[in-house]
Amino acid sequence: MSNHLLSKSSFVKGCQCSKALYLYCHHPQLKDELSESKQTIFTQGHQVGELAQSLFPDGIKLKKEYDFDFDKGLELTKQYLSKPDVALYEAPFLHNEILSILDILVSKNGRWYAYEVKSSTGIKDEVIWDAALQYYVIKNSGLNIDDFFIVYINNQYVRHGEIDVKQLFTIESVRDRILPLQEFVSEKVEELKAVLKSPSVPDIDIGLYCEKPYICDFMGHCWKHIPDYSVFNIGNLGKEKQYDLYYNGIVRIEDIPDDYKLNDKQRTEVSSALTNTPVIKKQEIRDFLSGINYPVYFLDFETFFPAVPMFDNSRPYRQISFQYSLHYLDSKDSDLQHFEYLAEADYKIDPRIGFIEALLAQTEKPGDILVYNISFERTRLIELAQDFPQYSGAIADIISRIKDLMIPFQNRYYYTPAMRGSHSIKAVLPALMPGMSYGDLEINQGGQASSAFVNLYEETNTEIIAKTRANLLDYCKLDTLAMVKILKVLEGV
Ligand code: SF4
Repeated sequence: MSNHLLSKSSFVKGCQCSKALYLYCHHPQLKDELSESKQTIFTQGHQVGELAQSLFPDGIKLKKEYDFDFDKGLELTKQYLSKPDVALYEAPFLHNEILSILDILVSKNGRWYAYEVKSSTGIKDEVIWDAALQYYVIKNSGLNIDDFFIVYINNQYVRHGEIDVKQLFTIESVRDRILPLQEFVSEKVEELKAVLKSPSVPDIDIGLYCEKPYICDFMGHCWKHIPDYSVFNIGNLGKEKQYDLYYNGIVRIEDIPDDYKLNDKQRTEVSSALTNTPVIKKQEIRDFLSGINYPVYFLDFETFFPAVPMFDNSRPYRQISFQYSLHYLDSKDSDLQHFEYLAEADYKIDPRIGFIEALLAQTEKPGDILVYNISFERTRLIELAQDFPQYSGAIADIISRIKDLMIPFQNRYYYTPAMRGSHSIKAVLPALMPGMSYGDLEINQGGQASSAFVNLYEETNTEIIAKTRANLLDYCKLDTLAMVKILKVLEGV
C-alpha cells in the first residue's frame, strides 16, 4: 500500500473540523452508522461518476486494473502518462503523503486536462477545496495540468429518450479559483498532517461546522453531552443563537434566562416545557376546524429524486411520486376507509402516471383533502401538472381542495412539551397519542422510504421485494392514519 496520510476526502473533512479528521483516521469505530439515505447518495454519486466518463469515451478504467493496490495504480498512471491522447479514469497521484484519485484525466495534443465529477447542481466552496488539493498533488507530482474542470449536473436538462450526457452535465473551468488557493492548501496540508501525528484527539467543542458543509459522521460521539431536549430544539431560533447560548453555558431549556429574547412561539415552547403544561388555544383551534368540511380525505405522498433522470419528462433531482396513502371519512362518525398506491419499481414504467390516475380516481368524490405540510404535496402536484399537462385540469381541482393539518401545531395552537420544539408529524403523533409512534416500523422516515423504493429497482429476491413493499405500505399508511387521529384530538378540544 502506498504510504499516504491524507486523501482528498480526508483533506476536506479536515478543513471542516480537524477533530473529525483525527477520529476518522484513528478512531473510525466511533463513526455514526451509515444511514440508508446517505448510502443512496454515495451510490448515486458513483453512478454519476461512471456516466460522466462517457463524455470522454474509450478511456482506460485504471481502477479496475489496480483495485485498491495504490502502488500499482501509481505505477500504471506513470506508464499511461507517456502515451499520447489518452483519457484515464480514476488515476491516482501521490505527493507529500497525500493520495489523490482524479475522476477523469485527458490528454490532447500534448496538453493535460483534469475533470472532477460532482453530482451537485452547482459548485460549492468545498468542491473548490477538493479541486485545489487535487491540483496541488497532481502538479507537484510532476504533471503540468493545463486546465481543471468541475463536471456537475445541469438541472435544466429534461430527459427525452436516451440520456444525452452532453446536456446532462455542465463542465466549468475552476482553474482561476484554485490557483490562488495553492498556498492555503500547502499550509493546510502541513497543519492536518501535524494533527494526524499528534498523540491525542484535538480539543474541539461542537460548533456550526458539525453540520456544514457536510453532516459530520461523529455527531453521535461528540454530541453525547447534549440532552434530548436542549436549546438546539427551540424552533426557528437559528443555529448561531443556539450556539451562542451553548457557549455561554446555557444548554437545557431550564437554563434559558427569563429575559432572553424569544418570539411568541418560542416563548410558548419554553414556558410549556418549564411548567410541563400543554398549551391549547381553543378559539384558534375552533377557527381552524371551522375551515374543514366533511367528507375529508387524508393524503400523504412518498417520492424519490434521482440525480440522473430515469424517465422521460423529468429533470435531474425531480421528485418522482411513487406512492400515496389516502384515508377517507364521509362524515365525523362514519367508518374510516383506506386507499393506497405503490408503483412497481420497473425502469420501463414511469411511476407518476399510475400515481396520478389512481389518485384522481380515488379522490373523485368531493371533499376537503388534508395533508400535513401543504408545501410538499402541493409542489409535487404542481410538478405533475407541468410534466403531464393532459392531467393539469384535474390536478388543479385537487390542489384547490387541499388544506394543511400542520397549521395548529406550526402556530402553536396546540403544543405539548413532548413535541420538543418540533411540529413535524413524527413529533406530534406520539405527543398526542402516546401509544402510537413510528418507532416500531421497519421504515420510519421519508428518506428511508425513498432509498427502499430505489433499491427495489435492482432487487431480484422476491421475498425481499414483498417485504419491502409491505414495509413501505405500512409506513405511508401510518402517516395518514396519524392525521386522522390528530384531527380527532383537535375536534375533541
Ligand atoms: S461532530 Fe462536530 S466537533 Fe465532532 S468531529 Fe464532527 S465536526 Fe468536529
